[in-house]
Amino acid sequence: MGNSSIDRYLEHNSQYASGQALHKPTYPGKQPIQPARRLAVLACMDARLDVEDLLGLQTGDAHIIRNAGGVVNDDAIRCLIISHHLLNTNEIILIHHTRCGMLAFTDDLLKAGLEGDPEAEALLGKATGRAFVSCKRSAATPSAFHAFRGPVEPLDAPRDAKQMERLAWDVRRGMSSILNHPWIPTSGPDAVTVRGFVYDVDSGKLEEVTYPGPMGSVG
Ligand SMILES: [Zn+2]
Repeated sequence: MGNSSIDRYLEHNSQYASGQALHKPTYPGKQPIQPARRLAVLACMDARLDVEDLLGLQTGDAHIIRNAGGVVNDDAIRCLIISHHLLNTNEIILIHHTRCGMLAFTDDLLKAGLEGDPEAEALLGKATGRAFVSCKRSAATPSAFHAFRGPVEPLDAPRDAKQMERLAWDVRRGMSSILNHPWIPTSGPDAVTVRGFVYDVDSGKLEEVTYPGPMGSVG
């Protein structure tokens, strides 16, 4: 899945990691609504990611979609369909990152804590270093938190092979969800390309996730 324009963003990323950001923060003047680089980025909301800076994007270049984890959920798909079919983007970049908070809990644990289970409250408090205050009520939404599959690790744990594997699993699941969506064309004249990356918050560097590949085990 070679792609010259995404490779240019990777070059920009190398410059960013070595201390030179290309993004200009000032108002660029009047611009068209369609992203100039025909790019859509889906990234985690983590405060340590500055998406425009780390890819060397300018205002007007790309749609930047962010949520907890950078997961391909219903709303991300909604954004990507609008981005492509109505606003002419044809490249999608997924960005997960090391030390992600989504590695440090499970959906069941967070739900139990919010609903008032004392054991879950204690575990979440210990994991985050913040007093977890249960709301002691149930709720129909969100239907999922999309915590990453695999054994839970401490919040903000440094990268290791297992962490990288769990991140890659989730990037691949996201890529698969996009590539197999009936309303996102991946062949023919209107095709969209998708590439996935893990951003290392300790180095500033993006690392590409191979695809296809493993998408997670229950062990
Ligand atoms: Zn994150």
